[in-house]
Amino acid sequence: MRRKLAAGNWKMNGTSAALAELAELARRHPDAAVDILVCPPATLIDRAVRVVPDSAIAIGGQDCHASDAGAHTGDVSAAMLTDAGARYAIVGHSERRQDHGESNVDVRAKAEAAMRAGLTAIVCLGESLAQREAGETLDVIAAQLNGSVPDGATAETLVIAYEPIWAIGTGRVPTISQIAEVHDFIRSELLQRFGPDVGQTIRLLYGGSVKPENAGEIFAVADVDGALVGGASLKAADFSPIITALEASL
Ligand code: PEP
Repeated sequence: MRRKLAAGNWKMNGTSAALAELAELARRHPDAAVDILVCPPATLIDRAVRVVPDSAIAIGGQDCHASDAGAHTGDVSAAMLTDAGARYAIVGHSERRQDHGESNVDVRAKAEAAMRAGLTAIVCLGESLAQREAGETLDVIAAQLNGSVPDGATAETLVIAYEPIWAIGTGRVPTISQIAEVHDFIRSELLQRFGPDVGQTIRLLYGGSVKPENAGEIFAVADVDGALVGGASLKAADFSPIITALEASL
């Protein structure tokens, strides 16, 4: 019912040479049973789309500005991403929230901009280690969900990524029951806010140190509809077995 999604976030990594990894990924997955997305740096989006024009791999942006155009030096609008061939935009990644002081209000405005431009917004949520240790995880997630996710979202316009900050790039992964608890909570919040028809169909990704070695057990968790993958998405040889594990979970 919810089509699974394997999404890669290259962050600030990759110049022209990295496009060979994308071509290799397309070669390995010509006809995937899951959706595949790669979000390269903005400088590569246009060329990335050309590397995989007819394949099953979508290309996305890692952020977008809340405004459609204007005097915002260095920023990229959602319309620009669409124009370059992107189909998704990640918004509210914890590195944006931390490095650029983005609040829930900012993230919501960015998600709305992405939706206006015809993109699917991947809204990232996640608690810090201190918040988890203080037992605040579900409160933090609820506040981020309420604050960052626009009204009127649908399965076509919204994907949620649960990414505990302490698991990103650290090799530290929550237990399966911790992942299950948060995904179950997010699903119930979505059902409450958007009703059964929409709430049941919005995809929930897990992100944070997903690797070929742990992907299978994470994908077996109910309400994990795929992954947002950082480091392991940079090389086709690493991302490909994660995609295969997601297909195997169907
Ligand atoms: C991310 O940045 O979204 C992420 C999950 O990174 P990593 O897979 O490297 O932990």
